[in-house]
Amino acid sequence: MNLTQWQTKPAWSEYEAQLLGRGYEPTWDPDTERAVSSAKITCCRCGATPAYVGMTDGKTELGFLACTPECGEWIRFLAPLPPLPPDGEGDGR
Ligand SMILES: [Zn+2]
Repeated sequence: MNLTQWQTKPAWSEYEAQLLGRGYEPTWDPDTERAVSSAKITCCRCGATPAYVGMTDGKTELGFLACTPECGEWIRFLAPLPPLPPDGEGDGR
């Protein structure tokens, strides 16, 4: 996984509050959680294992790895989404 440093990003608690203010809600996807833990990602600043945090507004799902509040480091990654079930396709209308 390629982790890009983002020098001017806000603290995770701040950014999380922004997302909540934009209508996002915390979500938890066990498949993503498993993928994250098997990838053995460690924080580039303190070496701890960041926690997976999912956010969704019902349409878009965002994935984050957030380190401890003391560290404040976090990264965003693209959550592997399952394919959407076909909606109204082939109903012969
Ligand atoms: Zn850290």
